Amino acid sequence: NSFDEAGLYDAFLKNVRKAGFEKPTPVQKFSIPIIMAGRDLMACAQTGSGKTAAFLLPVLTGMMKSGLSSSQFSTVQEPQALVVAPTRELALQIFMDARKFAHGTMLRSVVVYGGTSVGYQMRQLEQGTHILVGTPGRLLDVLGKQKVSLEKIKYLILDEADRMLDMGFGPEVRKIVEDFGMPPKNERQTLMFSATFPEEIQKLAAEFLNDYLFLSV
Ligand code: AMP
Repeated sequence: NSFDEAGLYDAFLKNVRKAGFEKPTPVQKFSIPIIMAGRDLMACAQTGSGKTAAFLLPVLTGMMKSGLSSSQFSTVQEPQALVVAPTRELALQIFMDARKFAHGTMLRSVVVYGGTSVGYQMRQLEQGTHILVGTPGRLLDVLGKQKVSLEKIKYLILDEADRMLDMGFGPEVRKIVEDFGMPPKNERQTLMFSATFPEEIQKLAAEFLNDYLFLSV
């Protein structure tokens, strides 16, 4: 019932304290150990439940523990974590949280979303990133330019998956996961967050997740 016991990387604990988080919310309390144990997860959790830190903290910890391979000088960038979110606002929020938690470490994050020029986002990407956050349409645009490869992805996170399907992003999400060399589900860790768990979400979970745990808070 405390962040200190969760086995999180020290620098992140410090940043969590700096953010004023005193104790984990329920979704954090249950998700963090599951994710740290390497399991796939389907979590039903609402916005405001603390779900962003629930996946970011263990994923960032896993990346630090396995050692960061910096692809800084390569022409094709190879992020290790991909977070897909339905809206620009949510993608930005996840990106800002990732930056906040990773402050003082080598971990770099980049966010891509539509409605704004792709040039700046591509330049950010070309400088290298460990974590790529984005909305489905813009992620597809960026992946199409072949400057980013998903072949080194260890963590795939689909946030607000029900909203992504409601907004009609099902085909885009499937394309991202299937058409750009991402390791198959038994060779990556996949986490899905959704406020609801209707049939289409269950189907998506069966497609993308490997022997997953189900959590409802
Ligand atoms: P989220 O559900 O991830 O959008 O988080 C909702 C809000 O709760 C955000 O403003 C977080 O910064 C904040 N938050 C997340 N976890 C905690 C925590 N353990 N203690 C206090 N605030 C938190």
